[in-house]
Amino acid sequence: MAARTGAAAAHQGDARAAGLDLTALARSLDGAGEVREAGPDDVVDGVPAAAVARPTTVEGVSAVLREATAQGMVTVARGAGTALTWGCPPERADLLLDTTGLDRLVEHEAGDLVVVAEAGLALRDLQEHVGRAGQELVADVPRERLEGGSTVGGALATGASGPRRLQRLALRDLVLGTTVVLADGTVATSGGKVVKNVAGYDLAKLMTGSFGTLGVVVRAAFRLHPVRPDRAFVLRTGPLEEVADLARAVVASQLAPAAVELDRPAGSDEASLAVLLEGTGDAVAARAADTAALVGGAVGEEPSWWGRLPGGDSLAKATATLVGVKDLLLAARAAEQAHGAAVALRGSAVGVLHAGVTAPGAGALAGVVAGLRAAAPSPREGTVTVLTVPAELREGLDVWGPVGGLDLMRSIKERLDPGRNLAPGRFVGGI
Ligand SMILES: Cc1cc2nc3c(=O)[nH]c(=O)nc-3n(C[C@H](O)[C@H](O)[C@H](O)COP(=O)(O)OP(=O)(O)OC[C@H]3O[C@@H](n4cnc5c(N)ncnc54)[C@H](O)[C@@H]3O)c2cc1C
Repeated sequence: MAARTGAAAAHQGDARAAGLDLTALARSLDGAGEVREAGPDDVVDGVPAAAVARPTTVEGVSAVLREATAQGMVTVARGAGTALTWGCPPERADLLLDTTGLDRLVEHEAGDLVVVAEAGLALRDLQEHVGRAGQELVADVPRERLEGGSTVGGALATGASGPRRLQRLALRDLVLGTTVVLADGTVATSGGKVVKNVAGYDLAKLMTGSFGTLGVVVRAAFRLHPVRPDRAFVLRTGPLEEVADLARAVVASQLAPAAVELDRPAGSDEASLAVLLEGTGDAVAARAADTAALVGGAVGEEPSWWGRLPGGDSLAKATATLVGVKDLLLAARAAEQAHGAAVALRGSAVGVLHAGVTAPGAGALAGVVAGLRAAAPSPREGTVTVLTVPAELREGLDVWGPVGGLDLMRSIKERLDPGRNLAPGRFVGGI
């Protein structure tokens, strides 16, 4: 057992008071990892944990989850902790399941463009490994998270994506298969290492973006892409409407951009457009020149904001149709003016953006979110989900907005985690 600090002792007291048997938990690991009392940093979005388990094998994850669930514990998985405040706070967090002991790169089949990694492996380490073979996982996880050590499991659980989703789609589309441990300790595998696999229930896609509410991902296989040797950026800044129209024109063109990103800084009547072209040598230079001519811009350097989340006290994910992006940009400006807030909007011109919002109070924040939602004629054409928000501004805020298919989602939760032992309350509809 780790040495106990005063705060940790208080947590241990909590664990005992709650009737949790940490010794049995440690015994279940049978040497494949460790269990310790929680410390002051072992908190999930304001909810303190009582204990932390750090298994080092899939069998260890299975055994400790089975024991925790048998004891009626609520378990929350934690990777590097770069997005632990995303989603709603869990109702409880008796046990933090630290995945960083599962950090092996299991297999890299360079010839097949496939990598299999354990969930606790840092994505940057995975990239470094496959990079040696001239390959990459085009996940484009936000850079601040990547720099913070964002893990394979954490990126999957939050459905991470970035600029190059335009051409390569999102992590959800790059994951070929996963091994997942369910709350009762069952180890379930779906998908595989091959690109074409249609057998059975697609657990890998289900897990993507489920915020750890359905199972603990322990292993995942991803499709890789060869690194393209050359790249060029084309930049243009101008009035919101004009830049939105130009971005749409680039997406609709034959220029095959790898990414088309928009950045509207808070308080601005203008937005910047940055187009990434990838390929080889002269062909990239020629496409860059054509793109510059189309948008009336210039070939330049990668902008400092590229691949980063917009700043602000709260962060929301806003989606729109290709045509609806312009309305979203205008809605951000209008919401700012109406509520005395700062709203920075940044993301893909195909309609997956992030809004960084700093609002003077809970009412103003709710007003901004409602204003952004109103930009889409219906939830099918755009959604705004608040990913993270300071506790004092959460009151009365509808973080998810209108969501279809809740009954289906609840029945999946009931099937996979009937006792609600995995991060209950974190997902939409109290899932
Ligand atoms: C209880 C529960 C039940 C769930 N049930 C399901 C389920 O039945 N099915 C399921 O898939 N997930 C399910 N999920 C996962 C959850 O809904 C994911 O959040 C969802 O899949 C969205 O993932 P995302 O964040 O990657 O979304 P997004 O990033 O918005 O992407 C969603 C999909 O759209 C594609 N896409 C987006 N933009 C474009 C574009 N411009 N061009 C082409 N493709 C694009 C993406 O590549 C991706 O495949 C469930 C989760 C829970 C907790």
